[in-house]
Amino acid sequence: MSEYVPAIGLEVHVQLKTKSKMFCSCSTDFGAPPNTNICPVCTGQPGVLPTKNKKAIELAIRAGLVLNCKIQKYSLFARKNYFYPDLPKAYQISQYELPISKEGFLMVGDKKIRIIRAHLEEDAGKLLHYIGSTPVDGSLVDLNRCGIPLLEIVSYPDIDSPQMAFDYLKTLRRLLRYAGISDCDMEKGSLRCDCNVSVRKIGEKLGVKTEIKNMNSFKEVKDALTYEIERQTKVLKEGGKIFQETRLWNPKQGKTFAMRRKEEAHDYRYFPDPDLRPIFLSEEMISEQKKQIPELPADRKKRYTEMGLSEYQADVIIDEKELADYFEKVAENSNPCEAANIIITHLLRQINEKNIPYSQIPLNPQNLSELVNLKTDGKITPQIIKRIFPEMFEKNENPKKLLENIEVVSDEGEIKKIVMDAIQKNAQAWNDYKAGNEKASGRIIGFVMKQTEGSADPVKVKKILEELKNENFDS
Ligand SMILES: [Zn+2]
Repeated sequence: MSEYVPAIGLEVHVQLKTKSKMFCSCSTDFGAPPNTNICPVCTGQPGVLPTKNKKAIELAIRAGLVLNCKIQKYSLFARKNYFYPDLPKAYQISQYELPISKEGFLMVGDKKIRIIRAHLEEDAGKLLHYIGSTPVDGSLVDLNRCGIPLLEIVSYPDIDSPQMAFDYLKTLRRLLRYAGISDCDMEKGSLRCDCNVSVRKIGEKLGVKTEIKNMNSFKEVKDALTYEIERQTKVLKEGGKIFQETRLWNPKQGKTFAMRRKEEAHDYRYFPDPDLRPIFLSEEMISEQKKQIPELPADRKKRYTEMGLSEYQADVIIDEKELADYFEKVAENSNPCEAANIIITHLLRQINEKNIPYSQIPLNPQNLSELVNLKTDGKITPQIIKRIFPEMFEKNENPKKLLENIEVVSDEGEIKKIVMDAIQKNAQAWNDYKAGNEKASGRIIGFVMKQTEGSADPVKVKKILEELKNENFDS
């Protein structure tokens, strides 16, 4: 065990779910051809004036509310000055001294992670590098992302392990998706994360931190943090020094590399943007956003466990709002626990295998609740469910209709023959069962189910086994 402990703070940028950009009316559509969603404002032409996107401000208020922040009725936009080829204005409009919300928290399981601030800003463009290739040998710039509205959510360094950073991100993403604030899709760049990490000896004050950038998935965040914590610990143990710097994660090599020594806030020469009036929020605007907040994941989880679902089941079901909504429709007309069970065992399997988004589940909830009811009424075995489910899922078929085509072996005489055959082929299990080991019967029943492709009535199988035991049937 290492005597050093990490302190991790995350800066998460999420793209707000708006149709147009932060300060102009250009579209935010993802995947448009390069430099088609641009105008004089977002490309920083001289003499233009930005205007504030009302929807972005509303979503920022809503985000502040779900993150338990104090919403500031007066906040300011500032210019953060730096030169970059993908930022034609040579400054980014952001919020510095007076952010729209601050001092909140996010519960990650039982742990409270404090939020320093959540502020509005605009995104920069994107450089595409084709160095040494044909027909383009060099770098191109795409300004479609310039001016996309972002919310930067900055946490305190309350996170104490890479796993907790992973859980924090998952919890945050789920919350923002539920509340309709952002899609939080890392692949489309609508969620990005930078990590600040330092290590210190237990009881000492925070150590010098490094910032890691360039991570493309939550798993990469976890891997990069694990690497960086080990690296810093090793340097300090050997008597070395940690420099405050920005490091890049290289997923292929599984290492972080120093990119640049960290600039301080004063390097950016922040000053209030003279082209934008401050944001004044009324009580009505804030209460309107309160009304827009739906039931959030933590509350849903509580409600589901009260309905009888296990912690595990509730966690799986609430993970995506669309899945949770689907579950509710199924559970409206059937037993919730059995519904959750079938969703987790069979539905999610089909969804994952076929890579279908939750919004496009072909099987409608009514048909699934019929299946759940057949199960709770003892009219269908787990084996039969397994058999019919793929077809039911794909064709959105009523389970009763599919059952018509399945021959159910219910004739006792016939079942008895199969059971006796199973006993002969599982003599050891039979002797164990006769000697009082109840569990051993499972092996014989399993064999019968396999022979009959699940179509034997399990209650009858069990009954026949008991009768044979009482008769002291010999294998
Ligand atoms: Zn524009």
